[in-house]
Amino acid sequence: AAGGSPSATGTLSALDRQHVWHPYAAMPGTSDPLVVESASGVRLRLAEPAYGRRELVDGMSSWWSAIHGYRHPVLDEAARDQLGRVSHVMFGGLTHEPAVRLAARLAEVSPGELEHVFLCDSGSVSVEVAVKMCLQYWRSLGRPEKRRLMTWRGGYHGDTWQPMSVCDPEGGMHHLWSGALPVQVFADAPPAGFAAEPDEEYVAHLHKMVEQHAHELAAVIVEPVVQGAGGMRFHSPGYVRALREACDAHGVLLVLDEIATGFGRTGELFAAQHAGVTPDVMCVGKALTGGYVSMAATLCTPRVASGIARGSVPVLAHGPTFMGNPLASAIAGASLELLLSQDWQAEVRRVGEGLRAGLAAAAGLPGVREVSVLGAIGVVRLDHEVDIGAATRAAVSAGVWLRPFRDMVYAMPPYVTDDADVARIAAAMCAAAREG
Ligand code: PLP
Repeated sequence: AAGGSPSATGTLSALDRQHVWHPYAAMPGTSDPLVVESASGVRLRLAEPAYGRRELVDGMSSWWSAIHGYRHPVLDEAARDQLGRVSHVMFGGLTHEPAVRLAARLAEVSPGELEHVFLCDSGSVSVEVAVKMCLQYWRSLGRPEKRRLMTWRGGYHGDTWQPMSVCDPEGGMHHLWSGALPVQVFADAPPAGFAAEPDEEYVAHLHKMVEQHAHELAAVIVEPVVQGAGGMRFHSPGYVRALREACDAHGVLLVLDEIATGFGRTGELFAAQHAGVTPDVMCVGKALTGGYVSMAATLCTPRVASGIARGSVPVLAHGPTFMGNPLASAIAGASLELLLSQDWQAEVRRVGEGLRAGLAAAAGLPGVREVSVLGAIGVVRLDHEVDIGAATRAAVSAGVWLRPFRDMVYAMPPYVTDDADVARIAAAMCAAAREG
């Protein structure tokens, strides 16, 4: 900048490092995040060029959420329209059309009898609510000893207390808290491979674990078909079916965490539908609002709700201030209609095929262990911990925003990404895998 004074971006970066705590970051900050000035379609516009690029194709959908891209006219209009009515009003004793219509539509499109909808603020909170529902259900039935959760290793369910307790305890991000978190029951991680036949020994292991711990288990909670932030692994829907059967046989509730997988990402509207399974409780978030604002939901069956209603405390003791936020509800409703009004399955398939074609080149690269694609998700797994700085630099130089971590370079582009941009994302993933 002229006269040696810091540029606007330089000042922002300095203030950011000093004051803004980023996800999984030290304070004061040790890196300079890129400054996003605006975004539209699938492009993020930076305040200043980084590695020669001012515009980046978004390969991340802002962590699974921006499925329609940014500034979609339909969602912008829904937000404007709702701002002209009311952006927030308390949900205790009051209700409003956007939340009612959203809840009814979610109940309609979700699998089975998931009829009751608790609208909350974030994915992690929706998992907290799911756990609370399950524990309260058993308390109401006079079985307070059923208060533990079972999951499988390699999972991720969020960063608040109960969700952290069912994240992968070893490779995962929350091993720091072992000893402080509630102690849960962990089955082995499901064998990898979406299309693989279910491994009978592993199915037997799941049945045995549920049977052995049923007396103390309130619920089993897992991510169906895709383990996301815990490791980006795809597994057979057969394991989700096995858990449903084991839970039914031994009197345990099944919670499916569809926060990452929901709203079409894996090729079905909800990943549980690959397995033909209905959970007792289901969590959704992320793409619920098309990534516009924070909102999540916990859905449950009449069995769970009526069980809770039989207790000495017949109400679900949960009520966040921003529950059922009208602005978020209106945008979520519009996002869901927008998704369902088009042949979204064809779009997800097209993005997946583009990733698969472009990532074929990655399979032969040194250091690449495995390439996998499911729905509109692509993963390049390395045989070493990725150098995040080098991999990000390579992707950004190729004009694409990616956020590699652990031993992976991965992408889950917005469904509206055209073929040329999908090819750019795949090429940038190859570059990131090579450099990282
Ligand atoms: N569950 C799964 C499967 C997730 O992928 C995430 C977020 O990555 C969460 C829960 C937590 O959601 P949030 O980050 O909105 O709290």
